[in-house]
Amino acid sequence: MRSCVACRQSAPPRGLLRFVRGLDGAVALDVRGRLDGRGAYTCAQPGCLRRAREKGAFGHAFAAPVVFDDGFVERVPSVLRDEIVRGLALHRRAGRAVYGRDRVLEAAPQLSLLVLAEDGAANTRRDILEKAAGLAVHQGPAKATLGHVFGREAVAVVGVMDLGGATARLRDDLSRYGHFSASTGAPVAGGAPCDENKEGVEAPKESVVTQ
Ligand SMILES: [Zn+2]
Repeated sequence: MRSCVACRQSAPPRGLLRFVRGLDGAVALDVRGRLDGRGAYTCAQPGCLRRAREKGAFGHAFAAPVVFDDGFVERVPSVLRDEIVRGLALHRRAGRAVYGRDRVLEAAPQLSLLVLAEDGAANTRRDILEKAAGLAVHQGPAKATLGHVFGREAVAVVGVMDLGGATARLRDDLSRYGHFSASTGAPVAGGAPCDENKEGVEAPKESVVTQ
């Protein structure tokens, strides 16, 4: 267990963000948690990062002066997103990832987890959640980003089959990304959400599903 330098809550390190201090004093995210040297942890929440910076908690944790790059907080989701893309691509190459509603539902009994695009349509989301009940569902990056993994323009849902440690890492990255995005209150920039779906994400409309 490690504790957040801002709020002092403790959690397993894989659920937190680890930071290291570079030789120049710059505090940098160590997304895989493997860089040498002393680490300082925060919750995967922008609020804790900001508070840690404002109250000097990083300098205290590293026992040395620290500096912060512009976008220190804002860049975190894109780093996590890159890791998610890498993890999904790894599963795809191993034949352990499927995409698209029908294929995902068909493969549901073999899946370890499901990833829904953060800008996916509300009715797709509801449909999948209903039919794949019991599966671990994560909110992932935007459709364009998920699409990139499979060489498609846009992918709204991805199913992942177990690939050992790679799946565990992917799960951790998805859950940290989900926490971070949820607390910023909006889909994270990078895959510009389509207008048609933008409001659907937050406020599902009732009359959309017809079967
Ligand atoms: Zn915290």
